[in-house]
Amino acid sequence: MRYEGNIFRPFSEAKSYLLQVTIGCSHNGCTFCGMYKDKKYRVRSLEEIKTDITMAKKYYGDLEKVFLCDGDAIAIDTDILLEILALLYGAFPSLRHVGSYVGPKSTLSKSMSELGALRAAGLTKAYLGVETGDDRLLHEVNKGVGYEEMLQAGQNLVNVGINLSAMVLLGLAGKGERSYEHALATAHIINEMKPQYLAALTVTPVPGTALYRKVKHGEFEILDAFETLEEMKWIFENITIDNLKFVGSHASNYLPVTGTLQKDREKMLAAVEEVLASRDRRYLRSEQMRGL
Ligand code: SF4
Repeated sequence: MRYEGNIFRPFSEAKSYLLQVTIGCSHNGCTFCGMYKDKKYRVRSLEEIKTDITMAKKYYGDLEKVFLCDGDAIAIDTDILLEILALLYGAFPSLRHVGSYVGPKSTLSKSMSELGALRAAGLTKAYLGVETGDDRLLHEVNKGVGYEEMLQAGQNLVNVGINLSAMVLLGLAGKGERSYEHALATAHIINEMKPQYLAALTVTPVPGTALYRKVKHGEFEILDAFETLEEMKWIFENITIDNLKFVGSHASNYLPVTGTLQKDREKMLAAVEEVLASRDRRYLRSEQMRGL
């Protein structure tokens, strides 16, 4: 298979064939993100994409799951995306899932009928980097949108029936009372957005990013492990929607917690509270074992 540069995909897409339809991210401006800093954004030509699908067909025969890389495949023109989806479903009779990262601005650039057409053509899951529900913080980290637009983007995806995984970042506000505000506002946007999945990751400064420079210059204090768990606890305490699958197993997190809110709420809270009460680092992933 042919890939350009580093390739990222969500943990739950581990068994998916990765089809690179764009190079990089159309926004590429978030202060904490170093994923595509080495790439200049472009959409790959349909010819290149067709060739990759033919190669995958020869190699795998049939496929059940595909993930569209890189950072924001929904930014591609709807007609082209529909053609890519048709090619995939035509090539692989067992295909039942096509997932993609989606940016909030690119999602909002699509009309509801375009999003509906993409869902009907088989775009089944979207991973939206919500990061926080704190409007000021969204602007500070240069997400490209504020609270209302982020919420609208997520709701539009949910409303057309695309399964939504909202990704949020523990520690994004740094220390102090803004940490609590970030957790509360994050629970609030999730309650309003109503995604099917909530994935929490933990801020890790990546060299080459604006956040890394701020940390280096003493302008941003990274939370310690227990402070990130406090945020996780506040989020659990303030999520009120039901049937929300919480995915906290990402390698950046100090304590892998998963479960379904509200069904597993008490168990999930107890897991976090036990570690917070004991302050025993043996429960935590070591810094060496944490990753991006
Ligand atoms: S966090 Fe997402 S939207 Fe922001 S620069 Fe990274 S890939 Fe692009």
